[in-house]
Amino acid sequence: MCKAVLQFLHTHRIRKKAAMSAHPIYNFSAGPAVLPEAVLRTAQQEMLDYNGTGFPVMAMSHRSDMFLSILHHAEQDLRQLLNIPSNYKILFLQGGATTQFNMAVLNLARGFSTADAVVTGNWSRIAYEQMGRLTDTEIRLAAHGGGQYAYKNLPAVEDWDVNPNSAFVHFAINETVNGLQYQNVPKLSDGLPPLVCDMSSEILSREFDVSDYGLIYAGAQKNIGPAGATVVIIREDLLERCPNDIPDVFNYRSHINRDGMYNTPSTYAVYMSGLVFRWLQTQGGVKKIEAVNRIKAQTLYEAIDGSGGFYINDIHPDARSKMNVVFKTASEDLDHRFVLEAELQGLCLLKGYKTVGGMRASIYNAMPLEGVNALADFMKDFQRRYG
Ligand SMILES: *Cc1c(COP(=O)(O)O)cnc(C)c1O
Repeated sequence: MCKAVLQFLHTHRIRKKAAMSAHPIYNFSAGPAVLPEAVLRTAQQEMLDYNGTGFPVMAMSHRSDMFLSILHHAEQDLRQLLNIPSNYKILFLQGGATTQFNMAVLNLARGFSTADAVVTGNWSRIAYEQMGRLTDTEIRLAAHGGGQYAYKNLPAVEDWDVNPNSAFVHFAINETVNGLQYQNVPKLSDGLPPLVCDMSSEILSREFDVSDYGLIYAGAQKNIGPAGATVVIIREDLLERCPNDIPDVFNYRSHINRDGMYNTPSTYAVYMSGLVFRWLQTQGGVKKIEAVNRIKAQTLYEAIDGSGGFYINDIHPDARSKMNVVFKTASEDLDHRFVLEAELQGLCLLKGYKTVGGMRASIYNAMPLEGVNALADFMKDFQRRYG
């Protein structure tokens, strides 16, 4: 619960649980985000004794057979879920998506005078600003969703001004903060540089073709598992670009050459990610979850668009995110009231990002349809009372 709610409950002497409605708490956090309840229950059961080994996962040597098997299965299940071709390697690194902004350039841009960046919102802008540090590579702005678009629309991939001699083209496919997402998964024509994609807040939410990309990375805490693991999927031939003189801990090839064991991986986060992969398989895989995700997003956008202007989302309809739905009312006071009252009904962490304001409902794979329906009902009820 947020501070304001706790203060409110304290002032009014309401016990935390009493404030909760009949349904379970629905967690709309952008990240670290909701995890499937079934996964948490399995983790709870296995907390002290993983699979009859007598070991807690948290206390296993990362080089033990027990952990190597957990890592191997997580990799295999991810490969199966995303249909990752055999010429792509998978790593579970640390340092979050943010570290990948720099690792991508350090590893892939040596000998190139430029790398291209597409800026469409908060995260790709930070990437653009940070990527050039530590190297001589100039980061070229290939397309910009600000200014004219003010992060309300996305520059079409056909309009990206790509330099064919650049090391790669970086973009974020789903802008977690601003609520924008490329509807068609971008790909570049042959002969253009490889695409490097920040998929933190959408990986595993819909089908796409891994072979359209050179490098994909995603922090686990949005749509995979707990914070601490960062999934990196890299095309094998690009490993030849990794310079020998960068520190091994930042070098993709050094991690690959040591089977992801160059240094200690975030073992528990990898284990949890593996449980989520298996859960996804039981849900019918990415294709099935994509269909559910479409209904979830549609439910919220219909609630917004059907409110006669009470709720506002001014993102271009072709660029609206199916993972992070941003909306606001006409006043900040009312937004504040919305967040507080929603919280009291067990619809939690709906406050928008600090620079954007308003509300944001993050509806990743693990958010059940019931949670989205409960939010849509609450939105209608709130409008009846304040509209
Ligand atoms: C959350 C997020 C990041 C930052 O991830 P960290 O793991 O905190 O480094 C970067 N890009 C996108 C798209 C995100 O959603």
